[in-house]
Amino acid sequence: MLLDCSCCGKLFRGEQTASHDTGFGTCQNCEESNIEKANRLLDEAILKIQPNLKPNKLKTFNSWPIDKQRNFAMEMIQKGIISFY
Ligand SMILES: [Zn+2]
Repeated sequence: MLLDCSCCGKLFRGEQTASHDTGFGTCQNCEESNIEKANRLLDEAILKIQPNLKPNKLKTFNSWPIDKQRNFAMEMIQKGIISFY
């Protein structure tokens, strides 16, 4: 179906999802840039986390795949342990 992107306002072909009003969605382009933006923020958070870890914890942290590091950063943000301010 044809949807209106609530981000850039362009019409695009996609699926209606529950997280958007009827007729609206997020187009592929905006979806990707949102993910990129989120990942960039998480990567910054990771850089803030690393100096605060004890050496053995840091070694473990650095051995994790980037997705796991980002999940960890996300948790730290949700718990309010680190912030972007
Ligand atoms: Zn868009």
